[in-house]
Amino acid sequence: MRMESWDLIIIGAGPAGLTAGIYGARSGLKTLVLEEKTPGGAAAETPLVENYPGFSGGISGRDLVDKMTEHCRKAGAEIRQLERFIELNVKDERRIVKTDRATYSASAVIIASGCHYRELGVPGEKELRGRGVSYCTLCDGPFFKGKKVIVIGGGNAAIVSAIHLANLTSDVKLAHRRSQLRAEEALVKDLHAQKVNVLWNTELKEIRGDVKVKGVVLVNSKTGETREMDVDGVFVQVGEVPNSQIAKEAGVEVDKDGYIIVDSRQRTNLSGVYAAGDVTTSPVKQMGTAVGQAIIAATEAFGYTKQPYYYKA
Ligand code: NAP
Repeated sequence: MRMESWDLIIIGAGPAGLTAGIYGARSGLKTLVLEEKTPGGAAAETPLVENYPGFSGGISGRDLVDKMTEHCRKAGAEIRQLERFIELNVKDERRIVKTDRATYSASAVIIASGCHYRELGVPGEKELRGRGVSYCTLCDGPFFKGKKVIVIGGGNAAIVSAIHLANLTSDVKLAHRRSQLRAEEALVKDLHAQKVNVLWNTELKEIRGDVKVKGVVLVNSKTGETREMDVDGVFVQVGEVPNSQIAKEAGVEVDKDGYIIVDSRQRTNLSGVYAAGDVTTSPVKQMGTAVGQAIIAATEAFGYTKQPYYYKA
């Protein structure tokens, strides 16, 4: 198999990967962005982004990442979609990236592979996935017009989901295992302005149904009381798990939860390998922070590859 040679290969085309693509290509690096699905990442599934600078009226995640994708291509980076990253080999001087279609060599690699949705692990969740159990409100919300749904979680994603569903469905409940939310204040205010009934100290124990979801079993963690509730849909929004397995297998250091450990210059423990965005240990997972980390990573990749006189290793 022929091996293609690139200066910079970026794994993942979410906001971090696309930004790294823009900066890599504009700095003169021959830049390839590899994406397992289509460009956009999880950000594309966010119904409304209200906190990305420059869009005070809000913008849909899809529109925002489409603009980033166009920008990345116009900057000169090549984006290859539907190509799955399967192996990274950093033992040689060049970094070797294998996908399900080809083998590439690169001077530098930026891992921007993001996260996938965390599952609850309760009975019925796997069996009824796609039959009333959903992890993507934007994708599946329209199927629940006029129906009863419950959102599980207490972070920003759960609140954004509940607000979006309140505009589509007849009855939205939000179940959170604590007595307070961890979402940002502006979103919590929006939630309360909508007709969303918050079930505090409530854990989901089981999802019931046959060909589709019919109801849930909930437990009050304070009183131990169990109750059943009829719902048509369950939106699970309980955080994320980093897509770092292949990097880990290549020897990239990750923390106990699997997030890639980077320094303030986005360097991993392996030379020429950088990481940016939600897959890293960065404590704030926002599009803005992912974009900032990607700019640093691409600038470092340029310095490492071209060794300009001002670059300090
Ligand atoms: P998150 O901030 O980690 O929140 C996850 C929520 O799920 C927490 O409230 C957590 O409860 C709960 N949870 C976790 N495991 C659970 C379990 N087994 N059973 C019941 N509840 C469980 O994750 P996220 O909301 O998915 O967001 C992911 C990242 O994207 C965050 O950094 C978030 O800020 C960012 N994001 C930002 C925006 C925005 O700014 N508009 C929108 C979406 C996402 P505890 O609170 O008890 O831990």
